[in-house]
Amino acid sequence: MAFSWNEKNLPKQLFINNEFVDSKNSKKLSLYNPKDGSLIADDVALAGEEDVDIAVAGAENAAKGWKKLAPTERRNIMYKFADLIEKHGKDIAALSRISLGAPYGAFGAFEIGLCAEAFRYNAGWIDKFGGESWPQEDGFLKIVRNEPLGVTAGIVPWNGPVGTIGLKVAPALATGNTFILKPSEKTPFSSAALGTLIKEAGFPPGVFQILTGDGSTGALIASHMRIRKVSFTGSISTGKKIQEMAAKSNLKRVTLELGGKSPAVVFDDANLENAVTWCANAITANTGQVCFAASRVYVQEGIYEKFIAGYKAAMEAKAKEVGDPEAEGTNIGPLVDKAQFERVTGFIERGQKGQGTLLVGGKRIGTSGFYLEPTVFTDVDIKSEIHTEEIFGPVSVVRSFKTEEEIMELSNNTNFGLMAGVFTQDINKALRVASDFESGMVGVNCVSMMFMCAPFGGVKESGVGRECGIHALRAFTETKTIMVNMNY
Ligand code: NAD
Repeated sequence: MAFSWNEKNLPKQLFINNEFVDSKNSKKLSLYNPKDGSLIADDVALAGEEDVDIAVAGAENAAKGWKKLAPTERRNIMYKFADLIEKHGKDIAALSRISLGAPYGAFGAFEIGLCAEAFRYNAGWIDKFGGESWPQEDGFLKIVRNEPLGVTAGIVPWNGPVGTIGLKVAPALATGNTFILKPSEKTPFSSAALGTLIKEAGFPPGVFQILTGDGSTGALIASHMRIRKVSFTGSISTGKKIQEMAAKSNLKRVTLELGGKSPAVVFDDANLENAVTWCANAITANTGQVCFAASRVYVQEGIYEKFIAGYKAAMEAKAKEVGDPEAEGTNIGPLVDKAQFERVTGFIERGQKGQGTLLVGGKRIGTSGFYLEPTVFTDVDIKSEIHTEEIFGPVSVVRSFKTEEEIMELSNNTNFGLMAGVFTQDINKALRVASDFESGMVGVNCVSMMFMCAPFGGVKESGVGRECGIHALRAFTETKTIMVNMNY
């Protein structure tokens, strides 16, 4: 079957054992277009218990053959899949955009590239992630094997629907697991459409399956007795439930990539223009709906006034980039839906009632669709919700500080710990601060970025485990020690 999915021909079925099938569940998902709030579809499959069980049985069956497939064959299928994702990248991104609202040039293309690269990067590891052996001077040869877990699953959010797939599915399949993907109920189409490419790439039936659904489908997966691992990206509250369900069912392994309220600390000696550019990009990319966005900006008092002037101007310029995601030149689309729009604007309204001073933005753009001006609050109360909670929109808070000691304490005084940034030209200070941050990732003279080869993830309540690099492969394998008696 050729890839022919588009907004007039949306994939609305489940993809199980390499076939598009109807859900056994009568409940359906409804989707709306965030550019104008119009209904896209109200008949998208919502996988129920029977569907999940059928997919798990298929995945168990496929796991036996997939892990024994020659590494070169597994690699070639993954390479072909990456090529197909790129070949159909614009169409796949359009299927995300219809319910996410992220423009192609500024976000869709990045996500497609990230997903394809994840498949290539992890395919490249297949014949290099070989385990260890320890010598037999004591009479026993020790062989340590990296073994797949079996049936694994991913539950993903809406804010990076395609990129997230690469980060989870590719290391799982590279290490010989089978995988069941549960996309967000807000962005099911680009994931479901991949079924066609899964088949074309040559994945055997049951190796990579897609179950669209909502939190109820996610809960069935997280508590399933025959799924051995769930890799979750989403909110902290759902992450905690997933960990609990995993523990209460079969103690399945979990990776949790959760929220953030990431600080960017700008010292007096920073390159001002560089700091302003990174901080403004960080909070407006994907309309601020990014887990590792620098949403708390702390600026040392000597550079504060200049920084504020530059940051305000940069955010005003960003407001001009907000628009219809389908239009040429739009870099920042609407927020994903009405609920998210009301959530973010709620923070802005309450923020203006004594939590801080509105420096720029704060208003809706237009009258239909969920467009919002990039927004900055200054002089925020450190106990206020706009300073402490993840807003997940184009809204940042700024405070000035005097000393390094004071600002490190404030930066770390949070349950989050995903990303942090330090801006200074003093290498000693940069490295000292980078090691003092309680976060999984730190940018020096940059912030809110990632690389496929380096671990991605958070400390404290921002997550458990890491994606990317060799760490993702470790997260999808168990080590087995084999001891050989050499004197026998
Ligand atoms: P969410 O937690 O509401 O939903 C995420 C996924 O979990 C969805 O697929 C949803 O259907 C599913 N789900 C919901 N309830 C469930 C339940 N009870 N059991 C099992 N699954 C359930 O998050 P969201 O609103 O889709 O995404 C936004 C959040 O994701 C933000 O907090 C953001 O910071 C975080 N995020 C983190 C990263 C990261 O890598 N650290 C990346 C992107 C987004």
